[in-house]
Amino acid sequence: MTPLLLSGSAPTRARFSFEVFPARSGAAALALGHAVQHLSAAGPDFISVTYGANGSNRDASLDLLRYLREHTEALPLAHLTTVGEDRDEVLRTIHAAMDAGVHDFLALRGDPPRGSSEDNPAVVGSLSSRELVELIAEARAERPPLTSVGRTAVAAYPNGHPLTRSRAEDIDWLIAKQEAGAQFAVTQLFFRAEEYLSFVADAEAAGLRIPVLPGLMPVSTSAQLRKVASLAGRPAPAALERALEESGGYAPELGVEHTVALARELLEGGAPSIHLYTFNRHEQVLAVLRELELLTPDPVEA
Ligand code: FAD
Repeated sequence: MTPLLLSGSAPTRARFSFEVFPARSGAAALALGHAVQHLSAAGPDFISVTYGANGSNRDASLDLLRYLREHTEALPLAHLTTVGEDRDEVLRTIHAAMDAGVHDFLALRGDPPRGSSEDNPAVVGSLSSRELVELIAEARAERPPLTSVGRTAVAAYPNGHPLTRSRAEDIDWLIAKQEAGAQFAVTQLFFRAEEYLSFVADAEAAGLRIPVLPGLMPVSTSAQLRKVASLAGRPAPAALERALEESGGYAPELGVEHTVALARELLEGGAPSIHLYTFNRHEQVLAVLRELELLTPDPVEA
């Protein structure tokens, strides 16, 4: 598997990155500021910031990217979606991110507005994720980044995208995004290493050359586990589900344990690094990295 060299230097140990989302209240923003300081101190390859489809949280997303850029050492990576926004609006958002010193993007199409489907006019008229990769490249050519590497990532679905559920179609589309200029991919959540490893093996056999970062989330609650299962498109492991329920529906240590075991299998199987969905908390993802001995020095202990 191709190693991911975001910093340009050869990593001596497995690398990692994080995902956060914009806070939905002032109190949550304070907690998030605290969390991202800890996340940044762990030395991730990047911290990605989600974007609400239809531009619903554009300003909050940009604010958080700016905060990361100005108040942490971490490289911010901006998620972008196209549903519900025309080409000019998407381009304005790309420029706004670039003006804030953010040149790394995850190019997504986004989901149809809640309660609607793929034939919603907001979806039909939107740019595809492949066209978004091209648009970012055009914007970057006009404004070459001065301070960061400037890379474009795309999404990958080891268990298939909900609409297709066909591995061949998902792989063909991922390769089309690679051909458009995507430099790495980040996966949707999944529970079992085999799901990722077989997807990447099949994709590489079909011509994929870019690294695919497995997306992992240590869950704390039964509700989060159900959410991950619906995103993964597969049932949660029964033992984990049972253990969480027996703990009263809240047991962060169980999510850490499962994620550590999964990450070990993935890294041993050749995954280039791990991308951790933080749920805007630092404790669990840092516990995962500590168990994997990937924190040097430990930002909490130091
Ligand atoms: P697309 O590239 O649009 O493709 C999805 C699937 O559809 C493909 O795998 C392929 O099978 C099929 N497909 C699409 N177009 C074609 C075509 N022309 N020909 C053949 N097949 C095609 N959503 C948000 O709103 N905000 C976020 O911040 C966000 N972050 C995400 C981060 C990650 C890592 C992931 C995996 C998903 C994220 N999502 C986010 C969700 C994402 O927007 C949805 O899953 C959306 O439905 C698909 O957009 P996409 O760009 O991932 O996929």
